[in-house]
Order: sequence, then structure tokens, then C-alpha cells
Amino acid sequence: MTSPVWHPFTQHALAGAMPRVDRSDGAWLETEHGRLLDAISSWWVITHGHRHPKIVEAIKAQADKLDQVIFAGFTHQPAEDLARGLIAIAPARLAHVFYSDSGSTSVEVALKMALGFWRNQDKPRSRIIALEHAYHGDTVGTMSAGARGVFNAAYEPLLFDVARLPFPEGRGCDTLAALEELAKGAAALIVEPLVLGAGGMRLYSAELLCKMKALCERHGTLFIADEVMTGFGRTGTLFACEQAGITPDILCLAKGLTGGSLPLAATLCTPEIFQAHYSPDRSRTFFHSSSFTANPIACAAAVANLQIWCEEPVRERVAALGAMQEERLAQFRGDTRFENVRRLGTIAALDLKVPDPGYLAGLGPELTAFFHARGVLLRPLGNTIYVMPPYCVTAAELDLVYDAVAAAAVGFGGM
Ligand SMILES: *Cc1c(COP(=O)(O)O)cnc(C)c1O
Repeated sequence: MTSPVWHPFTQHALAGAMPRVDRSDGAWLETEHGRLLDAISSWWVITHGHRHPKIVEAIKAQADKLDQVIFAGFTHQPAEDLARGLIAIAPARLAHVFYSDSGSTSVEVALKMALGFWRNQDKPRSRIIALEHAYHGDTVGTMSAGARGVFNAAYEPLLFDVARLPFPEGRGCDTLAALEELAKGAAALIVEPLVLGAGGMRLYSAELLCKMKALCERHGTLFIADEVMTGFGRTGTLFACEQAGITPDILCLAKGLTGGSLPLAATLCTPEIFQAHYSPDRSRTFFHSSSFTANPIACAAAVANLQIWCEEPVRERVAALGAMQEERLAQFRGDTRFENVRRLGTIAALDLKVPDPGYLAGLGPELTAFFHARGVLLRPLGNTIYVMPPYCVTAAELDLVYDAVAAAAVGFGGM
């Protein structure tokens, strides 16, 4: 009955036994207790669907040839192919690809690149600017850049100071005014473009993103786009930055990079950032590595993912999913039990109105259990219910999800 496994973001004193997941297929998970519709893409990583045949095939083929190999002093074809493939589809001017193994490490790499950029030019700048409610990962550096709260209160003494922009409301004048104040002399601004994921699926406009980028340019402040969640179609375009027509100086990718099949991350940067580290002086080396940097099997899975984007009508699927989400959200748009009904690309979210904030802490897990009992994997952020399924989800499957959301409003809403 008792397991030695310590699960992530889990209070074991309150959580029951974890259902064992045995198989996955398309939008479905098969657990020991029955099937679950994976309406959050297994924590935002699965894009096309579980076990896409071309990705599975690429993983098998690569595993037969080359497994892990040291990446300092060596290279391999999957890493080379993937880097060229990413440069070809990423916003213009991104020219170099640094591999790591998770979203958090891709952001750590980005922050280190930014500081190295300034230090190597003997113009040391170290201030990082970030958005209120941001989430950039769970390592000490990325927690520092992220919002402070119950999740990192215990580690606060170790976190470094970050200048914070108010989350954009309306036209975002306060945000821009704060950025104008802080950008001068800052090393970098880091943002989740268009949607703050773990911060509650909060949306802001492409216009504002564009203005923030312009302001950074004016002050020479580097612009880091954390597209760990938004990348690979989530927001309706391949990358969220496209909607603002901007190229960040540094771009972080992870979750959907391998279609969600294997852990892999990439931090892309402009020639200027690379050049600042390019020198006969060894002290200007970019000093970062993780053991599994550019794992060949993960890179092969990512190359297969890029091929799927080329060969299959993924953009059409993403657009169709967005339209289906919009149709189903319509029923909640005048419903007084909900507020902030919103959508961006394939991501739909709505807040269940619960006047007693003291109740909020326990609401998320209660809702999660309610949805599980109805065969749907949803994991609300407090009272924010969001639906972020893999792109293979069908209209009938999406109906199951929204029937469950409607039922939750009856069970939990208006309390
Ligand atoms: C998930 C996420 C991360 C962290 O990625 P991990 O792979 O979990 O380390 C960083 N930034 C954003 C925006 C994310 O959504």
C-alpha cells in the first residue's frame, strides 16, 4: 500500500493513493481504474497526442544506433539536424541553439547567457526584470524570476532579487511605465509571451508584448521569451512571439519540443549573445552543461516532431481545436457562476466564482478529484479551470470535458 515514491507538488498527508497509469494513446491515459481523457496534455507537454507513431518510430530507430554521448567536444546528427530545423522555424535572427533537459534549465541557461553577455563586454549588468504572477520553473534561479508565494516561501532566503512589473491590465499602461523606469541598465526582461501559465492562465495582448520588446530595445535590455509552455502551437501560432512580430534575444523551449515524448530543452539566441562569448579568452566560455545535454534519442524525437509540423496539417488542427474550444466556452459566457471566460489558441480557461477565499486552497484538489471521477484529467489552478488538450482531441472528446466542467459548476459553483 505505501510507496517510497515522493510525488511532485503533492501533499502526501492529504493525497490518496496515486492511480497507476499503464498506457497512453492519443488523448487518453489508461489507468488501473479505467480510462482518463488527458485534457491538460499531461501537464502541458503532449502536443500532437500520446505516442504519435512517427515520434515512437524515431525513438526506436535512434535507440538502436546511439544512446547518450558526451556533448562537450563531440556532436551527433540528431542534435545538428534539430538545431538547423529550429533555426529555420524560429523567429528570424535566432542563430544558435544551446541544449539542456528541462524548461527550468532552459531558463537558467537564458539568464546565464544574459549575464555573460554583459560581463564579457565589460559592461556588467545584473538586474533581471520579470512579470508579476510569472512562472519560470522550480530551480532556485527560476523561482527567483517567478512570482513569490506559498510555493517558494521556504526558499525565499536563497532567492535573488528581481525587479517586478505589474501584470498588464487593460492596455497595460502601468506595466509599460514600470518597464520604462526599470529597463535602463537592466540585464534582461524575461516574459512568458501572451499567457502566464502556472500564474493562472492570465492573458495579455500581442500589442503589449510588442511594446515591451520595443522598450527593451531602446534601453539595450535583453529580451528573454520563455516559450516553454507557449511554444509549438499552444497559442494558435507555432510560437507566441510570432503574434507580436517580435524576435526575442533569447528563446526558451522545452515541453512540446519532443511532442512531449521525452525530456529535452533548447535555448536559442541571437549572434550578438553568442559573439559575446566567442573569444580566444577561455574565461569567456559559456560555462554550462548538464549530463544529458542534447541526448541523441530525445533530439531524434524532436526532429520527428518538426517533421510532423512540416508534413501534417498541424496548424489546421490547432486552428480547429481553437474553434472547438471557443464554441464550448460560449455556454459559460453569460453564466454567473463563472467569470473571466477566456481563450488563446488551444488554451481555454474560466474562473469558478467562489466568494470564500479561505476555501480556495482546498478547491483545486477537490475539483481535480471530481473530474477524475468523471473520467477527465483536469487539474485546476485554484478556482481557475483550464482545458489544454493535445491537438488530436475530437469534438466528442471535448464534449466530455465540458460536460464535466458544467457538472462542476452545479457541484461547486456559487458557493
Ligand atoms: C513548465 C514551465 C517551465 C518549467 O519547465 P520544466 O520542464 O517543468 O522545468 C518554465 N517556464 C514555463 C513558462 C513553464 O510553463
